[in-house]
Amino acid sequence: MILHKGKHTTTSYQVNLLQDGGKLIDVPEMREFAISGTEGLDEVFEDIAELFAKCRFRDCIHTVEPGCAVREAVTNGILDEKRLRNYSKMKKESCGS
Ligand SMILES: [Zn+2]
Repeated sequence: MILHKGKHTTTSYQVNLLQDGGKLIDVPEMREFAISGTEGLDEVFEDIAELFAKCRFRDCIHTVEPGCAVREAVTNGILDEKRLRNYSKMKKESCGS
């Protein structure tokens, strides 16, 4: 956390983002959700979360698991594989270890 960057050390994170203008656009859209954890992640990837509910295994990571509804959606062209990859990446980052 950089607290002493700029003059406005007491301004909120949100205000800093607005003052920086383009920064909000430069930052990968999922960055803030990596901070807030998997809950926010599931909100952003609501479609994947919904498919996840149909996966056979609760700990499914949508790679080689049998009965994976998420992979099935990718295979059927319902879900963009890039989106799934992005999701998996964010999920891994937000889980820490
Ligand atoms: Zn799955």
